[in-house]
Amino acid sequence: MSKIAKFRIYQSAKTPKKQQWEDSLRGKLEVKHQIRTDTINDLENFSQDLQHISLVVESIQNNYQVLLTENSRLKSTLLELVDDCYCWKGNRCEKCQKILKSLAPETTRKKLNTAQEYEEILKQLRKLG
Ligand SMILES: [Zn+2]
Repeated sequence: MSKIAKFRIYQSAKTPKKQQWEDSLRGKLEVKHQIRTDTINDLENFSQDLQHISLVVESIQNNYQVLLTENSRLKSTLLELVDDCYCWKGNRCEKCQKILKSLAPETTRKKLNTAQEYEEILKQLRKLG
């Protein structure tokens, strides 16, 4: 009989089937318990990550709010400058035109630029004519 075969007989004599079954069951239960513990740890880490992200978002919101308030204050100050100027609506001085242009949204500004460019082209054409 080979050494391995002898060892197997010895092993099965030492650990009867019932005991093997219990060992295997305990092993499986241990693994399951470990998986559940890992899952709980993962969830805790995930929860901490979410809390951190939530704080970051809150901070961004606050900063943005401050920026909006400052922006709005700046806009009203600039509009006051225009209101207090000697010029009037429909006939704004160069300074007020610049201010108003800077307050216009990007698309309007582009339209203004296009209108100005068109005017420039017309001027050049008139000069030529
Ligand atoms: Zn003005």
